[in-house]
Amino acid sequence: MEKQSDKYHLRTVNIPLTLTADQLTNIANTIKEYSDHFNTYAHWLTANETTSKKKAHTAMYANLATIHPNFPTGLNQTARDQVIESIKSYNSRWPNKKYGKTPKFSAKSYRVDARTISLKGNGTLTFSTVGKRVNTTIAIPKWFSDRYSDYEFAKWGSIGINRNGIPFVNLVFRKLKASEVKPQGKRIVGVDRGIHYIVATSDGVGYSGKKIRGNKRKHLHNRKSLQEKGTKSARRRSRRMGQKESRFTKHVNHIVSKELAYSPMISHYILEDLSGYGKKQQQKLSKKAKSLKHSNKRSSDWAHSQLLEFLSYKCEVTGIAIDFVEAAYTSVTCYRCGFVGKSNRIKGMFHCSECGFRIQSDLNAALNIRAKWLLSHPEIEGEQVDCEPTVMSCKSRRESKLSAGLTISSLRGC
Ligand SMILES: [Zn+2]
Repeated sequence: MEKQSDKYHLRTVNIPLTLTADQLTNIANTIKEYSDHFNTYAHWLTANETTSKKKAHTAMYANLATIHPNFPTGLNQTARDQVIESIKSYNSRWPNKKYGKTPKFSAKSYRVDARTISLKGNGTLTFSTVGKRVNTTIAIPKWFSDRYSDYEFAKWGSIGINRNGIPFVNLVFRKLKASEVKPQGKRIVGVDRGIHYIVATSDGVGYSGKKIRGNKRKHLHNRKSLQEKGTKSARRRSRRMGQKESRFTKHVNHIVSKELAYSPMISHYILEDLSGYGKKQQQKLSKKAKSLKHSNKRSSDWAHSQLLEFLSYKCEVTGIAIDFVEAAYTSVTCYRCGFVGKSNRIKGMFHCSECGFRIQSDLNAALNIRAKWLLSHPEIEGEQVDCEPTVMSCKSRRESKLSAGLTISSLRGC
């Protein structure tokens, strides 16, 4: 399925569904069984180090069909294909660690495709569940059909239940890519996703996270006091506040990713791979989850992966490639002399105890990310960036306000 993104621009729209209690139960059970199929295939395929559909089918299909007799065949195949995609993408990203990680189902929805969903022009939507096939009517929101009037339904989407218990469908629409969009420039740019800056690039541009952090702190404080109250209405208000906060983060992520994707003269953005890092970090965090500071950190992991998601599809349109380096030591290594030391980061500034180099710490990380990637891609002639960025202090940085109340500041030359 994911291969569609090579040929098409894809857009997803989320639409709530009005269904009966029985249909809702069927969806909940389908998600459960889909998850079981996904994880079973994931274990088998990883253990046997294969991405063959046929082998997976022969080995597992009958078995799964016995355990879950009501699970639609089409969904069984989709779960299998989704696992295979996930393993393939891991293998191509980490060619030295093939099959090193077993994919785990974490979604709150199950995937549907031409085998299991249909949408007619009059809004009739049908899709498979463990029970009777659901047949309902939906309306595509006007803003979406206006903006993407030249898109067609890609016969692909997902069915799930949101945190308010409302069932929904995500429908994917597509448009054929006119031609391979050629990137305009040759600049390779390192991107650090941090807390001080939402992102900082090796070109010296930083998007301040101040507003987001302030928002989070405010909400966390309010939510904490509401949770201590413990009444039903307090819990409800606390939940709403969380939703408001995540809408704000989403808004900011859209703006930042758009700015990056539409920057001229860039061929590659290089980011840290945070997928492995997140898990370890989370285990550590769960012990200390009560601390305000740490829950702040955890929610920023989520925000970081959302930013990556937005950046990926926007860059697809503008033809900028996205690649990754392993996230190790990029923030504690001195960009100038390569010295690695834990105590190097002091209050947003990186201060090298070896050579005395001073630089804004997120910019240092972005430069290291870029250098690390160039080192492993000797065939790419990246335009050289200044090895000695002029930044020594960011006290007088220029900041211009963006619509979200977000600040963009130039780290270089301040
Ligand atoms: Zn140094």
